[in-house]
Amino acid sequence: MESILIVDDDLNLCTVLKEELIEVGYDAAYVDNGDAAFEFLEKKPVDLVLLDLKMPGKDGFQVLQELGEKKISTKVIVLTAYADVKSAIDSAKLGATDFISKPYDFDELLITIRKVLQRDE
Ligand SMILES: [Mg+2]
Repeated sequence: MESILIVDDDLNLCTVLKEELIEVGYDAAYVDNGDAAFEFLEKKPVDLVLLDLKMPGKDGFQVLQELGEKKISTKVIVLTAYADVKSAIDSAKLGATDFISKPYDFDELLITIRKVLQRDE
C-alpha cells in the first residue's frame, strides 16, 4: 500500500483529506507542521508528501529545502491556497514534483497523486 503524509496546519483539511485518501486505498497520515513532518519521516518513510506552503514555523519552502539537504527522496506535491506561478516555480526548483491549488478538487488531486507515484515505476 502506498503511503502519503499530509503536512498542513489546517487540521480540518488534514482530517478530511486523510479520510478521502484512506477511502481510495492509500495509507494516509497527517502532521500540522514542518518539524513534526521530519519526526514522522525519520520513523516512517512515505512514498508521497502533500505539502502546504504557508504554515507557522517552518513553511513549505523550508520543508522542501530540508528534504533536499537530508536527501529524503520522497515525492512532494505542493498543496496551497497561495497558488501562483512564482510559488509553483519556486517549489519545483526546490524539488516539488507537482502543484495543486486549494480548495482542492479531490478527483483532480487523485489524478495528480497517481501520476506522481507512477513516475517511480
Ligand atoms: Mg497553511
